[in-house]
Amino acid sequence: MTETTPPFTSDELAEGTIDTVVIGGGAAGLNGALILARSRRSVVVIDSGYPRNAPAEAVHGLLALDGTPPSEILRRGREHVRHYGGRIVLGEVVSAEPAAPSADGDLRFTVTLADGRSITARRILVATGLTDVLPDVPGLAEHWGHSVVHCPYCHGWEVRDEPIGILATGPLSIAHAYLYRQLTEDLTYFTHGTDLDEDNRARFAARGIRVIDTPVTEVVNDADGALAGVRLADGQVVARRILAVLAQLQIRAQGLEGLHLPDQDLPNKGRSFASGTAGITEVPGVWVAGNATDLTAQAGASAAAGALAGADINRMLAIADTDAALHAAGPGPTPHV
Ligand SMILES: Cc1cc2nc3c(=O)[nH]c(=O)nc-3n(C[C@H](O)[C@H](O)[C@H](O)COP(=O)(O)OP(=O)(O)OC[C@H]3O[C@@H](n4cnc5c(N)ncnc54)[C@H](O)[C@@H]3O)c2cc1C
Repeated sequence: MTETTPPFTSDELAEGTIDTVVIGGGAAGLNGALILARSRRSVVVIDSGYPRNAPAEAVHGLLALDGTPPSEILRRGREHVRHYGGRIVLGEVVSAEPAAPSADGDLRFTVTLADGRSITARRILVATGLTDVLPDVPGLAEHWGHSVVHCPYCHGWEVRDEPIGILATGPLSIAHAYLYRQLTEDLTYFTHGTDLDEDNRARFAARGIRVIDTPVTEVVNDADGALAGVRLADGQVVARRILAVLAQLQIRAQGLEGLHLPDQDLPNKGRSFASGTAGITEVPGVWVAGNATDLTAQAGASAAAGALAGADINRMLAIADTDAALHAAGPGPTPHV
């Protein structure tokens, strides 16, 4: 899904070598940039402007910001980064790769934008997020983020007591159903070609969850265009106002191939970039934060991961700066003053 938030005014791309380029200006990237800018690091965020939650009217479950539109949170985030000297550039990164190191051996990267401009940085924070790949059911995608939802903590309260359908996509949909049962008594589970064992059928029955095994062929709208139900392969229409779907989660890795970041397969979920503590990766000089490495992170966890990565980048830059100072001082005893 590639819905955008309103476009923002872009800063100029910095000249020369900067401390860090942050690729992706969502919650993770902006919080990483905020920590770096407040540490007096030169930082440029390059953001193409389509955060994952763009279709949603508001962000929920985020302390102190519950109910705030995603675009407003990002607007404030950009303002905060800029307040400390960080730059936010509207653009799409199409290439990022290691460059020749500096004379004292410090790392360098070249990051190129779709319009051909490029920038050199000492370190990179990847915060490009992920794409939700919905099952190929006609009419489903147009309701994404509104009447077609995924996360009970993001939209659950808003759809409470509605007639909800779980459109199963795999074994994880079973646990998903129990979470939505907490929110409504009118829940139907469409197996849609996935397995549902006898034990869970019994458990669903005990909780009053109806199971339909006939495949779903399309989403049906009412005269106003609102989601009204699903049509089954036998032609029957089952009335529903809300569908909950666990999408396949795919990291946004386009343009980052030159970094050779290792990724990992997460069974039944999707793929993510592999990372360790504070977002460190096996590629020297490259960190990753937010949904790009943690597919289940909500906005708060993504922002926190960005902040941790920003702090770790600053720590490593401080070591590199000291190594460079030693290199510049040359061999011999350190003079005592
Ligand atoms: C419909 C929906 C509703 C949600 N509601 C909630 C909610 O209520 N509460 C909550 O806590 N969470 C919610 N989430 C989850 C939330 O969207 C994520 O946790 C959060 O967006 C992750 O932040 P991020 O910074 O990792 O990625 P994103 O927010 O997706 O930001 C990534 C940014 O990177 C940019 N980018 C990608 N590739 C490139 C490139 N090559 N060059 C330049 N820029 C690039 C993108 O344009 C984007 O702006 C929701 C998710 C969805 C799908």
